[in-house]
Amino acid sequence: MRRRFTGNDLVIASHNPGKVVEIRDLLKPWSVQVRSSGELGLPEPEETGTTFVANAELKARDASLRSGLPALADDSGLAVHALGGQPGIYSARWGGPSKDFAAAMARVHRELGGTADRSAHFVSALALAWPDGHCETFEGRVDGTLVWPPRGSRGFGYDPMFVADGRTLTFGEMEPDEKHAISHRADAFAKLIAGCFAD
Ligand code: IMP
Repeated sequence: MRRRFTGNDLVIASHNPGKVVEIRDLLKPWSVQVRSSGELGLPEPEETGTTFVANAELKARDASLRSGLPALADDSGLAVHALGGQPGIYSARWGGPSKDFAAAMARVHRELGGTADRSAHFVSALALAWPDGHCETFEGRVDGTLVWPPRGSRGFGYDPMFVADGRTLTFGEMEPDEKHAISHRADAFAKLIAGCFAD
């Protein structure tokens, strides 16, 4: 049985303004007062987990303990099947300090070499933690194929080289609304809402 979110205040455990806006929008129907850990001056914990869920959980728990409020965190990335799931939890780090995802995509392409298997999936893990240490976690995913060269300038990260199953446009070419309807993040959010928010 999932624990329901019944309060009014929620901390988004992220210093990424784009993520905070997206989460705020998704939670609008529940009239929750949302503040980010950045706005509250909370530090960013080191992501020492070995899975997406573990990293989401440690970020949510840390923000909840420090703020005394329930906190929501997400952790996401790209898993390339022929690379044993890499870059996985290191997806952001493959972009380097300058967040150069053209270079990160080129690295994926280079490491795949002549491999025929181009399948991959994006993962989004969400964790909702309470100050008493309770935590609920959810995982969403979208499967697809990697293309080369990258196509499109929308989205972020590895979007220009990812075509979701049943589609022809990359996430970098799609209208944002179209991507958000089928993405790993949308999948994880639907599970969070059903588990902890909806009546
Ligand atoms: P984090 O969850 O903020 O640690 O970011 C994970 C990294 O995974 C991002 O920097 C992107 O490189 C990649 N990633 C996660 N979600 C997406 C997506 O929807 N499109 C493209 N790349 C993504």
